[in-house]
Amino acid sequence: MSGTLLYAPPVAVDLWGRRRTRGARAFFLTHLHADHTAGLTRNWRRPLHCSPLTGRLLRLRLQVDACWIRPLEVGQSHAVALDERGRRTMTVTPIDAHHCPGSVMFLFEGDFGVVLYTGDFRYTPAMLKEPVLMNQKQIDVLYLDNTNCDPALVLPSREQATEQIKELIKAHPKYQVKIGIYTLGKESLLTELSLKFNTWIVVSPERLTVLELLDKHHPFTTWEDSGWIHVVEPSEIHWKTLCYWNQQRPTIAILPTGRPLKKTHPNMHIIPYSDHSSFSELCEFVQWLKPCSIIPIVKSHACQAYLEKYLNPNCEVFPVPSIPELWQDVTPLTNSRREERFRQLLKMTVPTRQPGPRGVIFKSLKECPDTSKSSGAVQNHKSAAGCLGDCICYPWCCTERKEMEETCSSDGAQGQLLSAQSPTSAPAKEQLVRRLGSLILKQFCFAAG
Ligand SMILES: [Zn+2]
Repeated sequence: MSGTLLYAPPVAVDLWGRRRTRGARAFFLTHLHADHTAGLTRNWRRPLHCSPLTGRLLRLRLQVDACWIRPLEVGQSHAVALDERGRRTMTVTPIDAHHCPGSVMFLFEGDFGVVLYTGDFRYTPAMLKEPVLMNQKQIDVLYLDNTNCDPALVLPSREQATEQIKELIKAHPKYQVKIGIYTLGKESLLTELSLKFNTWIVVSPERLTVLELLDKHHPFTTWEDSGWIHVVEPSEIHWKTLCYWNQQRPTIAILPTGRPLKKTHPNMHIIPYSDHSSFSELCEFVQWLKPCSIIPIVKSHACQAYLEKYLNPNCEVFPVPSIPELWQDVTPLTNSRREERFRQLLKMTVPTRQPGPRGVIFKSLKECPDTSKSSGAVQNHKSAAGCLGDCICYPWCCTERKEMEETCSSDGAQGQLLSAQSPTSAPAKEQLVRRLGSLILKQFCFAAG
């Protein structure tokens, strides 16, 4: 599943390419699966919001500088700035997505309405008791993980799938077991198997590093001979490897996944254990939320037809979409099909809301500290170990902002930029591009503060 650039609010979720995220005022990561971090590297230099656990995993796995990680406590509401002065803010509440360790959904609330972005999630009835969702809050737009949104796809609960795997292993008492699992997720399944069969679970050193970060007391080891259940990457399970393993000793391979896969060896077993919501769970979730509109996150799967009946019928739709200021500025220079498609999507889905703030109201953000001390603060940060929770790097940004403001005010660029209208000559376009770049850099700095 790839990420999404939202228009209201103007944020990017699980999307990291510089071109693809143009116009984003803030960045959010739902969880650390590889298909959600494509383009996110150790060179990332913008504030990034995620759960505290995902923040720790992000530093461990991708070496993203702690300076840019903004951990948001799960279940609590946080204010995030959406403009360079911090005058326009939104409220963000991360909600446990029950998908993998650290995974969250994001509830965005502000003058744009209420938007819930599920990311990858497995619905559980406990979600209905989330304080932030319990008061029957009207969700204007629901970005939904529609991975399994197909009535023909019937999936058991994870508990039922775990029982299927236990029965399968019990039916092969003298067999070694290879189980194909991605680096993050399904840890509770492995722990249950360890307890049930009283064996250590053998994993790779890389996986053990992650597992130790999740829980110090675990049943995992890197010693090959310590256990007979071995965790491997799903891609390692195929006909050739199964032939090889069975030459050494009798082996079965288990792939716990909701994806439709082809069985290529008699000893390969595909168990429908999914960390994504089943179709019936999606229906239950949407029926309870009664959103005004739904945007499927997996673009290739259409699912609105199945869920339309659960939408709130009393929501109205704007006849003409309101495009944020930044997009109006950028539009003349980026006439791409992709943006046109998003604008059409917005037109279809943005419901009518009364203007004004929504959700929790916070005081405005503090002014920048004395920039004369900025270089020292940066040095302190660089030398501080494990500063994920407390690290704030805005002094550097404020220094940069001050320099840019001086540059802009010297030639009146800022005022011209905000009123620029479709320049026709090439030099004028180049000038506008340079100034847009300057404006966007300033926005990142303000977001960092
Ligand atoms: Zn995932």
